[in-house]
Amino acid sequence: MPQEIGQETVGSAELGRWLRTFADEVTDHADELTRLDSEIGDADHGSNMRRGMTAVVGKLDAAPDAAPAALLKSAGMTLVSTVGGASGPLYGTFFLRMGTSAGDRAEFDGAAFAAALRAGLEGVLTRGKAQLGDKTMVDALTPAVDALDAALADGASLKDALRAAATAAREGADATVPLVARKGRASYLGERSAGHRDPGATSTTLLLEAAAESLG
Ligand code: ADP
Ligand code: MG
Repeated sequence: MPQEIGQETVGSAELGRWLRTFADEVTDHADELTRLDSEIGDADHGSNMRRGMTAVVGKLDAAPDAAPAALLKSAGMTLVSTVGGASGPLYGTFFLRMGTSAGDRAEFDGAAFAAALRAGLEGVLTRGKAQLGDKTMVDALTPAVDALDAALADGASLKDALRAAATAAREGADATVPLVARKGRASYLGERSAGHRDPGATSTTLLLEAAAESLG
């Protein structure tokens, strides 16, 4: 078997591929995301994310030569402005902070990409004030970023590290099922929110799976 030769850097072309793959995943899973949100929210997470990511792809098409910082900030601003729900400002902040972390670099290496994802996570924490275990997207994003750091520190390739991050995100989303929601709309249900999977943690898993598929 020839060894898989991955690419260890992430530039604008790769970021564009990641966002387009995420948009496809969100579209493919929009009904599932909305069904999850119908159980503990207001049944709009799938349509929110599909509308937002379709607009992001439109921006990518309109500015194919944008540098990483501009590309990520445009994605973030587009999500903030096109998604009415809580998820718009949260995902928007995530990409805006990634864009700030990019600075003027043309490419991220693995460590810089992991640092940008962590900056995005910190933006979500600051903006949404959720903690781990509150049954939100933070419960998928935190273990994913931790797993990415750990795998890179162990010498894994970017591809393998992103696969580990995607697996950790899915496990984190699975672990939201028994939790009682303490943030967002689902928290209005109190104990009745237990027994359901968090929609935002589920879409965040798609974001990490899209990264593992399209980067590295
Ligand atoms: P809305 O709740 O406004 O209808 P969405 O349905 O699009 O927005 O998104 C709901 C998801 O947003 C939740 O499943 C949860 O993961 C995430 N979420 C809500 N509030 C917060 C918060 N304060 N911090 C982090 N994530 C949150
Ligand atoms: Mg909703």
